[in-house]
Amino acid sequence: MTNKGFTTQLIHADRQLNTIEHGGVHTSTTQSVLFNFDRAQDLIDVFQGKQAGHVYSRSSSGAVTALQNMLNQLEGGVGALCFSTGMAAIASTLFSLIRAGDHIIVSRFLFGNSRSFMNTLADLGVQISFVDVTDVRCIEALYQPNTKMVFCETIANPVTQVSDCEAIGRFCQEKNIVFMLDTTMTPCYIFDAKKVHASLLVSSLTKYVGGHGNVLGGAVVDSGLYDWQTFSNIHAEYRVADTSQWGLTQIKKRGLRDIGATLSPDSASRLSIGLETLALRMSRACDNALQLATWLNSHEKVDKVYYPGLADHPQHFIARSLFSEFGAILSIELAPDADPCVFLDRLQLVLCATHLGDTRTLALPVASTIYYENGPDGRADMGIAENLIRISVGIEDIDDLIADFEQGLNAQ
Ligand SMILES: *Cc1c(COP(=O)(O)O)cnc(C)c1O
Repeated sequence: MTNKGFTTQLIHADRQLNTIEHGGVHTSTTQSVLFNFDRAQDLIDVFQGKQAGHVYSRSSSGAVTALQNMLNQLEGGVGALCFSTGMAAIASTLFSLIRAGDHIIVSRFLFGNSRSFMNTLADLGVQISFVDVTDVRCIEALYQPNTKMVFCETIANPVTQVSDCEAIGRFCQEKNIVFMLDTTMTPCYIFDAKKVHASLLVSSLTKYVGGHGNVLGGAVVDSGLYDWQTFSNIHAEYRVADTSQWGLTQIKKRGLRDIGATLSPDSASRLSIGLETLALRMSRACDNALQLATWLNSHEKVDKVYYPGLADHPQHFIARSLFSEFGAILSIELAPDADPCVFLDRLQLVLCATHLGDTRTLALPVASTIYYENGPDGRADMGIAENLIRISVGIEDIDDLIADFEQGLNAQ
């Protein structure tokens, strides 16, 4: 199936990857937490990883495994694990792999909650450096013998800085450290993470994969490009025969099983259905975003538009080389005399809401909401203006979207 197109592969591979009962086209979900074995030896073999199967649904279940297989196949990885949320995927992965005394280099423009989680890791004795990931030289300058990992996002939100992924991938390969990349903004339909040599691809499935604002989920996919035999933090019991599975085995046991932020089978099923239309929604939303950004960029009430698809975006050329489309998040700063709240209240089609990657277009004032906790200095450090408005572009008809923004802006 891998020679087929993205969506063909996606909507038909389920039947090949999994045994689905009675010809059903979706993997069935179970409410069962436990799994019975007729032979005790089978239970023992599943526990010891010698036989495939499920023993307790905190660790694995059918619908979750089906989704994991699909995500892994789309990324061309060596395995995937799902979690209850994107934050659970990120936190569990880092808790599993990083120890006190390790140093990690992290993007200065990280998603707010990921950045906040770094404070938790710092409290536990992990050394963290925040850097400008649009320039690999900033990362190179911070490398130390105890550096274990670089963690950044493909496109940061809300200001849409684009990480220099190719150069970062080369650097991590050279230093033999893990390159953990949050690909939430650019799902596999528009970005091939293996091409930039990323080791671990983490993402929030809540966004573009689910796509409809009705389910939370997260994932980590191992691209297979990092040699875990050289990673000193893998415990003896997780050094399984297949060395490509060392990292994921430790994340599965220490992160998923022990921390327990498991994706429910019901959520997995909903995410799988969302995934089927990822390409359709993503290309429509990206098209809309480019048109809307271009339109906003020439509007007199708009001072600034941040969108990697615009030729004057500082990382436009990096974005062109990395992604087949430029994503569907853009941010704007209104002219100084315009009140962001008045503008947002005027919008009729566009929802004033947090969240992104939805079918509907969403907008929110950034400084007073999702980056409120960071304070003015923290926001300045991340390049977030006090009047910044983030827009997550949906799949509405573009003429209707532009008309809504036009009436909202003209009232200013
Ligand atoms: C939303 C988001 C997360 C967290 O995902 P949840 O599913 O909401 O926990 C992590 N990274 C990025 C880039 C996100 O946009």
